[in-house]
Amino acid sequence: MKVLVKCAIVVKILLMLAFLSFSEPILAVSALGNLSNGLFFEARLDADQHTHIHLTELEKNWLKRFNKEIKLAPDPYFPPYEFFDSEGEYCGIGADYMKLLQKKTGLRIRIVRYKSWAEIIGAAKNKEVDIIALAASTAQRSEYLNFTQSHFSIRAVLITRSNVTSKLSLDDLKGMRVSVAKDYVWYDLLSSKYPDILIDTVPDALTGLRKVSFGLSDAVLASTAVSSYYMKQEGISNLKVAGETNFLVPLSIGVRRDWPELVSILNKGIALITEAEKEEILNKWIFHIERPFYQTGKFWNLVLLTFLVMTLLIAIILFINYRLKGMVRSKTLALREEQNHLTNTNQKLQRALIKAAESDRLTKAFLANISHEIRTPMNSIMGFSQIIEMGDLSAVDRSYYAGQVVRSGQQLVEIINSIVDISKVDAEFIKPHLENVPIHSMIEDVVDLYQQRAEQKGLKIMIHLPNVSVFDVIETDVVMLKQILNNLMSNALKYTLSGKISIGCQWTGGMIEFFVADTGIGIPQEYIDSIFEPFVQVEDNGRLQAGGTGLGLTLAKRLVQALGGEIRVDSSLHQGSTFYFTLSLENGKNRSAI
Ligand code: ADP
Repeated sequence: MKVLVKCAIVVKILLMLAFLSFSEPILAVSALGNLSNGLFFEARLDADQHTHIHLTELEKNWLKRFNKEIKLAPDPYFPPYEFFDSEGEYCGIGADYMKLLQKKTGLRIRIVRYKSWAEIIGAAKNKEVDIIALAASTAQRSEYLNFTQSHFSIRAVLITRSNVTSKLSLDDLKGMRVSVAKDYVWYDLLSSKYPDILIDTVPDALTGLRKVSFGLSDAVLASTAVSSYYMKQEGISNLKVAGETNFLVPLSIGVRRDWPELVSILNKGIALITEAEKEEILNKWIFHIERPFYQTGKFWNLVLLTFLVMTLLIAIILFINYRLKGMVRSKTLALREEQNHLTNTNQKLQRALIKAAESDRLTKAFLANISHEIRTPMNSIMGFSQIIEMGDLSAVDRSYYAGQVVRSGQQLVEIINSIVDISKVDAEFIKPHLENVPIHSMIEDVVDLYQQRAEQKGLKIMIHLPNVSVFDVIETDVVMLKQILNNLMSNALKYTLSGKISIGCQWTGGMIEFFVADTGIGIPQEYIDSIFEPFVQVEDNGRLQAGGTGLGLTLAKRLVQALGGEIRVDSSLHQGSTFYFTLSLENGKNRSAI
């Protein structure tokens, strides 16, 4: 938001700069507009109001009599010296001079408009025109006009088509057709000094330029500024200045001959025009026209403005780019996190799917096995019960068969209990109930249970707790943990004929690992991978005598998994087996908790 406000301020400043750079010509036009009012060119001061000009009595009297509507006839086609603009207002060097003179002398001047210079000359001869702002003093004109001192000079140049390659002077144009405006001073000079040139009189310089452009005339003789003004203004591009002439003519104000007092008043006014004022007028009209665009202040203002706008745009683009990059970065990060999350969820789902499929497979296998395993003791019960029922048995036989029925019944109960236990763990009916369990005493409790049976078999039970202190506790479910150790201990006792049984645990990293090792008959290698699956029993005579359901290790594995750990076995036939299992403990935080 702050950035937007800053941008708005900068844009506002730029717009103000733009306005300032373009406002100059607008002001200039309005100043020009104030100069004349339609065809009237009103003076702001009355003759007796001016204080800066010293007039003779004669001049003052003249002013009183004639200073009402001094008729000034500007040449309509003499730009930039004088002309009427598109609004019909009198403009140019002459107009600016006359404006200054009015201020300095208090003359009241009225603009009268004629169609051509020739008409103006005609009207001047008849005294319908009182003054001409810009006129060359010639002998012919002196018959009906007086002239003030000169304001400035103009030089004539020769304009030809651009395909004329050599530099030309008037001497080169003998027998050629040269256009020149009727009654202009150039006409008088040309006709008197170059009689061999075919003069083509035209109403004004523009007509002459057009004729040369269309090939109707060989050259046109006109003043430098007028030619360049028209060529530029009218877009005549096939013309060029082929050469200069030595026609340098001073221009003055022409005044009707019977008003010599006005000449002296104007001369006093001209004397008061400063060099700076003259320069300003010439700069405004001549320099303005001829100066190439790239040299103008407007051009440089435009360059500056463009530069500022471009800089601002680039800054805005860079800023937006920076913000977008930031947004893309954070969006990418968020997407990446979401992607990771989805990948994790997907992996979990896949694992769950595999587990579900596996569990489904196991459940089916389990059920198939259950029916088989249950049928065996049930068949025994049924068979022996039927024999007993027949009644034709000795007391010894009956007691033997009855004993078989009881053993089969016990096995059945054992199987059903184990199945129920496994199912409860699987279905998460039994959930770990965590409590602080002191390791030493818990192991001693387990050992106590088996001590007597071990002694009867002549086996030693050893406890190994290499890096476990008597104060160490773990947070786990003590019932489940004891159940696991009991199953492993009972197997060790069952399958060990001599030697010893070791029980213990040790810290490994942040984990605790329990083990039960024996020096028993061992497990053949081909059973190692499947020994934890339900109803898997190694088939050899020694073991069959030991009995069992084939569910003890299955239950132990399910309980270890419920406590977040893993179980494995190392075994060598006739040498012994070692069962290891870990428990999940958060960074061993339970170690030495007391
Ligand atoms: P069972 O009730 O048959 O002992 P278990 O699931 O506990 O069922 O054990 C599966 C089989 O693994 C046993 O039948 C036995 O052959 C073998 N077994 C288990 N523990 C040991 C051991 N410590 N030494 C040798 N064999 C073992």
